Amino acid sequence: MSEQQDRIFLSAPHMSGNEQTYIHEAFDQNWIAPLGNNVNALEEALAAYSGVEGAAVLSSGTAAIHLALRQLGVGEGDVVFCSSLTFVASANPILYQGARPVLVDSEPETWNMSPAALERALGDAEERGELPGAVIVVNLYGQSARMDALMEVCRGYGVPVIEDAAESLGSEYLGRKSGTFGDFGVFSFNGNKIITTSGGGALVSNDVEALDRTRFLATQAREPALHYQHSEVGYNYRMSNIVAGVGRGQLEVLDERVAQRRAVFARYYEALSGRPGVAFMPELEGSKSNRWLTALTVDPEKAGVSHLDIIEALGAENIEARPVWKSLHLQPLFEGVAYYPHEEGWSVSDELFRYGLCLPSSSSMTEGEQDRVIGVVEGLFE
Ligand SMILES: *Cc1c(COP(=O)(O)O)cnc(C)c1O
Repeated sequence: MSEQQDRIFLSAPHMSGNEQTYIHEAFDQNWIAPLGNNVNALEEALAAYSGVEGAAVLSSGTAAIHLALRQLGVGEGDVVFCSSLTFVASANPILYQGARPVLVDSEPETWNMSPAALERALGDAEERGELPGAVIVVNLYGQSARMDALMEVCRGYGVPVIEDAAESLGSEYLGRKSGTFGDFGVFSFNGNKIITTSGGGALVSNDVEALDRTRFLATQAREPALHYQHSEVGYNYRMSNIVAGVGRGQLEVLDERVAQRRAVFARYYEALSGRPGVAFMPELEGSKSNRWLTALTVDPEKAGVSHLDIIEALGAENIEARPVWKSLHLQPLFEGVAYYPHEEGWSVSDELFRYGLCLPSSSSMTEGEQDRVIGVVEGLFE
């Protein structure tokens, strides 16, 4: 290799420049402590953007999932369903609550939860008298799950839905913003997401009472008494006023970031979709993905190279790429957990992990940087 070129990251933070204004505001008012104007303003702006009644901003997306489970009364020994093809953060809060996960496969059209597998899993659960306390549906890499079908199945059994939209902020489905279909929606502002506060998350809902209770649980379940009264266990999960200032500056440019990520996807698609064995993550009709990460599968029999060959070749050029999430049912942490494949004998998420990779997709990526990535991948096909 010649001289080492600058590293290209999978998904780098991309500031708007307005973040400093809101941080300074907090400093000027000496409103450094948790809560304050930035927190309130970010909650209002996020609810308005999403088209829901309210939002509670928190220290992480994981905290939001945890508090959603608490709201729904999920506790020791309860069952909770979750998409299997996801980052572990979707399911860790199930374990925090001492509940038992059941993992559900993806469908090929969205890479997200298979309505057919969910239907089978709920049917079995009803028969055993063990309906889940919640179903956690994940919108992977920006693509919405088939939320209308999934909601209909869950409503049929009276089971509430937590929509993990940590990766799909800014995406749309059937004309509505992603994250607004479930009883609760979860967003993340972690450093690698489409917008970031360096770390943070949010719970959104049309149930404003539940959101008030979320804020209460997130501040140590502190009851309004001079001496601080406590009757139940709480958490320290609130977002600080400084961090919320970053969030305000970021939310202002969210639509721009979606357009930039979609442009990154379009350039990859144009350059690589004609290669043998290559298939890009689909975009379901009626949906608009934020294309947080460009994901694709490579069939090595047809392509002559594997997804791991590509990741390795990119790595040698100081470019970060990664396999698609390793499904939770394949993780040692969830060994022995019940799993429902898309069809008997056909696990879609296993195939996506076996062949899938994510390419660098930062909104700040230049065309020159993207040409570097494309050049390496094309080189392997020559
Ligand atoms: C990032 C992510 C989370 C967790 O968000 P944090 O803010 O990092 O806690 C949850 N689910 C999915 C699918 C994610 O990608």
